[in-house]
Amino acid sequence: MTTATAFDVAAIRADFPILAQQLNGNPLVYFDNAATTQKPASVIETIDEYYRSYNANIHRGLHALAERATHEFELTRTAAQRFLNAETREQIIFTGGTTEGINLVAATYGRMAVGEGDEIVVSAMEHHSNIVPWQMLCQEKKARLKVIPMSDHGVLDLDAAAQTIGPRTKVVAVVYASNSLGTVNPVKALIELAHAQGAVVLVDAAQAAGHFPLDVQALGADFLVLSSHKLFGPTGIGLLYGRRALLEAMPPYQGGGEMIRDVSFEHTTYNELPYKFEAGTPNIADVVAFRKAIEYVEALDRPAAHAHEQALLAHATEALQAAVPQARVIGQAADKISVLSFVVPGAHHQDMGILLDNYGIAVRTGHHCTQPIMDRLGIPGTVRASFSIYNTVEEIDYFAQKLQRVVKMVQ
Ligand code: PLP
Repeated sequence: MTTATAFDVAAIRADFPILAQQLNGNPLVYFDNAATTQKPASVIETIDEYYRSYNANIHRGLHALAERATHEFELTRTAAQRFLNAETREQIIFTGGTTEGINLVAATYGRMAVGEGDEIVVSAMEHHSNIVPWQMLCQEKKARLKVIPMSDHGVLDLDAAAQTIGPRTKVVAVVYASNSLGTVNPVKALIELAHAQGAVVLVDAAQAAGHFPLDVQALGADFLVLSSHKLFGPTGIGLLYGRRALLEAMPPYQGGGEMIRDVSFEHTTYNELPYKFEAGTPNIADVVAFRKAIEYVEALDRPAAHAHEQALLAHATEALQAAVPQARVIGQAADKISVLSFVVPGAHHQDMGILLDNYGIAVRTGHHCTQPIMDRLGIPGTVRASFSIYNTVEEIDYFAQKLQRVVKMVQ
C-alpha cells in the first residue's frame, strides 16, 4: 500500500477546530470535502472580529468603521486577483458562489451573445449548476445545448469535443475538476478549441480551486467561477473572473444600489467594474473572512499538499478494493482530484451512507447534482468519499474497515 508523504497533517488539523470533535461516540471522519470544506480558525475568528469590531456598510460611508470594512472587503479582491493570477483586481466580481457566477454570465454575456440557432457546449460531467442556466438561456433564445461526451472511465473525448464545438458555438462551459468523478479536464486544450471557433469559455473551478493552483492567464479562460466554501472559506460567497473587454461590454446582472453611477427616473448610468456587477449590500463579513482562507491556502506548501491528497486517493482506492473487492470505482481518469466515488452491487448507496454515519464517518451519497453522469453510467448514485489536506491514512483505514462491515450488514 502507498503511504502519505511527509506533509505535516497534524499541524494542519490543529488549524481546523471542528475536526477535534466526536460524533456518535467516534472521532469525526470528515470525507465530504467536495460538498464543502471545513474552515480554519483564522476564517472563523475573522467573521467574529468583523461583527465585534467594525461591522459597517461599505463603499458609501465616511466614518471609521465604514472605511475599515471597505478596506478589508477590498483586500479580499486583491487576494483573489493574486490567487487566480488575474490581470487586474477589477476583473474579480464577488458573487453568491459558483452557481450565481454561472447564472450571472448566462444572463448577461449569454443574453448578449447567443441568438437563435446558436450553440452552447457543455460537457457530459457538468454539475447541474453548469447545465440548467445554459438550458434556460437556450430555451429563451432558441439556441441549442450540445454535450461533449465522456468515456465509461469518466474521461472527456477531445476528438469529439473538436467535432462538438463549431462555428455556431458561442459559449463553452466546462468543469475543471468533476465533483462526482474527480476527473481533471484538459481545460486549456478545450479553451484553445473554443477560441479557434470564436467561442468564449467559462471554467467551473468550484472543485479545482481547493486542490491545485489556478492561473486564468495561463489557461486563457474568458470566465472562471468558484465558491469560497469549497476553499476553506465561508458559505454563500464566491468569485467570478472575467476577461476585461467582455465584462466591460456586458450589461449589468441586477439593478440596485452600488451598481449605478447616476440615477434619475428617466435614465441610469452604470458604475465601473467591478461594482457594475455588485448590486446591493454584499455579504461583507464573509468576503472579508474569505481572504483568510485564500491566505491559508497560499501559505501551504502546495506541491506537498497536492502530493498528500494524491497519496490519500491512491491509498483509499487500494483500501476500498481490499476491503470490498466487489466495489466499482466510478471515475477512473488518470488525472483526478482526491475524490473516490464508488458503487457496491447489491448495497444501496444511501444505506451505506447512513450506516457509516453511525461510526462518525461523513460521506456523501446520491447523484451529487450530476444526474446526467449517473444516467450515462446507468447507476442511480454513488458513495463519494472526498479528501482534503487535513485527512489522514488512518482515517481511510478506519473507513475501509467500517465500510466492509456496513456492506455485510446491508447485502
Ligand atoms: N460546480 C461544481 C463542480 C460543484 O462541485 C459545485 C458544488 O458542489 C457547484 C458547481 C455549485 O457550487 P455552489 O453550490 O457553491 O454554487
